[in-house]
Amino acid sequence: MSYFEQKEPPKREDRLKACITFGGTICGLANRPKGSCLDDGERGFTQGSICLLLPGLAMINSLPDSVVLVHGAIGCGSSTHGQNANIRVGSNIRQGKVKDALWLSTALNESDVINGGEDKLEAAIQEADRRYRPSSIIVVAGCVPGIIGDDIDGVAARVQPQVNATILPVHCEGFKTKIWATAYDAVYHSIGRNLLKEPKEYGNVVVDELEELKEKQRRSRTVNLMNVTSMGRVDELELERLLRALGLEVNIFPVFAHPEEMYKATQAALSISTCPTHDDYFLKHLHEKYGVPYIIKHMPIGIENTSLWLRDVAAFFGLEEQAEKIIAEEVRELEAALEELKPAFAGKKVFISAGEFRALATGNQLAELGFEVVGIRSFHHDEFAEVEYEKLAARNKDFVVDIANVQPFEEANLLKKLKPDLFLGHHAGNGTASKLGIATHVIYNTGLSYIGYQGVYEIGRRLYRQLKNTTFNKKLSKHVRLPYKEQWYQEDTFKYINSRGGEVNE
Ligand code: SF4
Repeated sequence: MSYFEQKEPPKREDRLKACITFGGTICGLANRPKGSCLDDGERGFTQGSICLLLPGLAMINSLPDSVVLVHGAIGCGSSTHGQNANIRVGSNIRQGKVKDALWLSTALNESDVINGGEDKLEAAIQEADRRYRPSSIIVVAGCVPGIIGDDIDGVAARVQPQVNATILPVHCEGFKTKIWATAYDAVYHSIGRNLLKEPKEYGNVVVDELEELKEKQRRSRTVNLMNVTSMGRVDELELERLLRALGLEVNIFPVFAHPEEMYKATQAALSISTCPTHDDYFLKHLHEKYGVPYIIKHMPIGIENTSLWLRDVAAFFGLEEQAEKIIAEEVRELEAALEELKPAFAGKKVFISAGEFRALATGNQLAELGFEVVGIRSFHHDEFAEVEYEKLAARNKDFVVDIANVQPFEEANLLKKLKPDLFLGHHAGNGTASKLGIATHVIYNTGLSYIGYQGVYEIGRRLYRQLKNTTFNKKLSKHVRLPYKEQWYQEDTFKYINSRGGEVNE
């Protein structure tokens, strides 16, 4: 039975045997059986982290003509406030109009916990439909309905005949998983179950034979370019540029896609992932149910990876020769432009923190530029990353690998020992390194360029400037302190990682 026939997707711990706990080196990792779940015990001490609502909301808040209705405690939707700038800029740049994230909450309280929140949810859906007349109402469940047993799918089915909007139940109960990448599956799951049916009026339109032939040809050259918010418009444009150079048309999916147009993803000739951490769940569904083949292997970050990514797409359409010409020209121009930047990077040590595939692909990119990768902290581990670890191991000396759902105490300990010249992490995750006086750069910002050949140059240019003057963080470190005692920095970084048997790693 397909996962999509069930109300909820499985969590990634079960579906992919993904895990969040490992401390060691790349060589240690390589000696383990492929796809193994590492030391996925618990940490004896852990610090707070995010839940899957944050990436889930980032995806669904972007959908035009939609209302996001968080069914849970009032605080569950608060990350939307931090995401709103992206939504405003993203919709303006794509659709030519500024749109705020439109989110409501059922604000469940103590009384609802005892009496149940389904009536409140039903009334809220009707009110959202009456007030905003949206194309879709996305009902996102947080922890509370999961704990008290509210049936959001049942409520959606009951209310659906009474409202115009399509109701999408999305399961993001935070307590169910520690791997927040499950959020991508949760959103894709609901899109797959509710939005991929071609509207009847389109299916019944009578078109002449020539028009029909043209449409078939267009579809045979159209690719789904998957983006779950990890690329800003500037990066989408770079990949569109490369795909168009091959003569392909591009359907970007699912961020900022209109719910009523999403069925078009089922008609493409191919789906292309831009990050294997994000898309496998949905790409397999598109393939199994609608026969759309897919490529999910490389992330187009860095020179080698962008070329591999483009070659895979070209090979599918039999356009290898054309691709080689494009790659040769792009790489020649890029290498010439990088010449003046590279001397500044030679031998500089870098530590990278991000979702697993992005961290590794960025590591490969920085190694191409001349940096030495001394450490990588990935938020989880699964089998898709093996290929990227292999590339990095072949290019770089042995380095530290920390698989952790953040855990800044391990990061602080590692940074004190490894003393990198540069730290790349998410904008909210660069504080520890900054306070230690290390130069930092954001690994992801939707306003900046990271992807494709252009991304290589742009990140090189930014890092060149950053490393020219590292005074700010050095000064910062003289005036602020991290909350750890000096004694912690002398300890084994991974002393709190327990193995499956409950023993502490040696
Ligand atoms: S879903 Fe659960 S873990 Fe996530 S913000 Fe809400 S209460 Fe917290």
